[in-house]
Amino acid sequence: MKTFTELNLIEPLQRAIAGENYKIPTPIQSQTIPVALKRRDVLGCAQTGTGKTAAFALPILNRLGLQNRSAKAKRPFALVLAPTRELAVQIGDSFATYGKHLKLRHALVYGGVSQTSQVRSLQRGVHIVIATPGRLLDLMNQGFIQLDKLEVFVLDEADRMLDMGFMPDIKRIIRELPAKRQSLFFSATMAPAIVEITDKLLVDPVKVDVTPKTRSVKKIKQQVIFVPRKGKPELLQRILSSRGDLRAIVFTKTKRSANFVTERLNKEGLKAAAIHGNKSQNARQRALDAFRNQFVKILVATDVAARGIDIEGVTHVVNFDLPMEPEAYVHRIGRTGRAGAKGIAISFCSAGDQGDLKSIEKLIDQEIPVNQALSVTLPSPSPNSTRGRTARGRTGRKSSGAGRSGTSQGGRSRKGSGSRGSGDESTDNEKGKRTTKRRRRRVRTEKASAVKSARTGESSSKKSSKKPGGGKRASGGVGATESTAKRRRPQRKGKNARSRANASRSE
Ligand code: AMP
Repeated sequence: MKTFTELNLIEPLQRAIAGENYKIPTPIQSQTIPVALKRRDVLGCAQTGTGKTAAFALPILNRLGLQNRSAKAKRPFALVLAPTRELAVQIGDSFATYGKHLKLRHALVYGGVSQTSQVRSLQRGVHIVIATPGRLLDLMNQGFIQLDKLEVFVLDEADRMLDMGFMPDIKRIIRELPAKRQSLFFSATMAPAIVEITDKLLVDPVKVDVTPKTRSVKKIKQQVIFVPRKGKPELLQRILSSRGDLRAIVFTKTKRSANFVTERLNKEGLKAAAIHGNKSQNARQRALDAFRNQFVKILVATDVAARGIDIEGVTHVVNFDLPMEPEAYVHRIGRTGRAGAKGIAISFCSAGDQGDLKSIEKLIDQEIPVNQALSVTLPSPSPNSTRGRTARGRTGRKSSGAGRSGTSQGGRSRKGSGSRGSGDESTDNEKGKRTTKRRRRRVRTEKASAVKSARTGESSSKKSSKKPGGGKRASGGVGATESTAKRRRPQRKGKNARSRANASRSE
């Protein structure tokens, strides 16, 4: 499919698309729209940023535009479920944009705000409802919306719905839908639980997959910086003040941490706004608008709140905390490097984060280059501490003979990188593991004493341990992976140890 004209969409839609200056359909659009127009069910594996909103919005608008019926009070013809308010708002904007030459009405239904105006719209009658599950169920239970006339049902970001525990609500909503309907499901990943529900809910769906993860993340310049947890705020500040034209989204694991980081940045004169689930809808929208309009250059977000945010011109994504789910990493860094623009994704990795880092690298099938200039040698934790057990042997390090410039993605050979390098290789087979463990123990001991010495000011050891925000730094810092070098693979971590690590890190 080369052009939108070949998609046989009705003229008002063609006009709206031309108005948006879309030249050719994106892959998800060219594969989804023709089959959706034929009223087939679709299971799309696609992330935000691929143009998936138009992939479901255009067929819905086409169908309802052709039918040309007036809207019925409380009884929409199409329902789109989205996991977050922000995504619902964005989807609503897309419907407004693509449907601007049609006489179709849509309503947004989401929590965190008064329901009065939502109820009023529903009573007046809308063709399309875009909703988050909780508020929709609320309004259904109060009798303000009935889904018996529904013809098209869209479930967007199904994997996130699952993560956020919305599945019971969604199942309750689906029970109210007519059996004869068209269903379009989209998910960034196809976890077994998603496959299970789609098997039950979709009828002979056309499967469309446009998210080869490794390809999408390779467009973005990634780097990891090893830093103790306590050093993260200072490092963040340093990175964010290094470029005047910077527009960054900083991801934290918890809402509390998002508030803390935002306050600290503002205190330092770096204008930042926070967006997370504890903020009211209005506060979240205000923060998003401020970032969109560039009144603030830094948006500090948790995963849930940032889901689906589509803002152009984000130069940096900083993972202040690594996400616990590796898939979230792909979503996070996808906030930058959009529409072919250059983007940098920087991840802070403290001792306890290294298991998460390893999971991420496994998922994206590449090693993230280390920013050696900004990385420190992480201390070996005490053997008795919980963190110690999980962080064991996972120190970021400067590898002497293994230094390599550039940021090659995924092609990091461990061969020829000296004794430590061959130790890395050996993590891949059982025999080598024993040798590696012995080496690592030795290296850890050396590093621990080096760090201790550096802390107590012994000049001889200072070179091996740099303090974040102090000591020798690469000029500019941000985006500088020039001194990228090989890094040892983290040890395998058991599931229990991993959750202990996560628990110990959550604030
Ligand atoms: P989405 O994945 O739906 O969030 O879309 C991501 C961005 O791509 C949005 O800003 C859309 O306006 C834009 N977009 C969608 N389809 C196209 C297209 N065919 N050509 C150019 N931009 C598009």
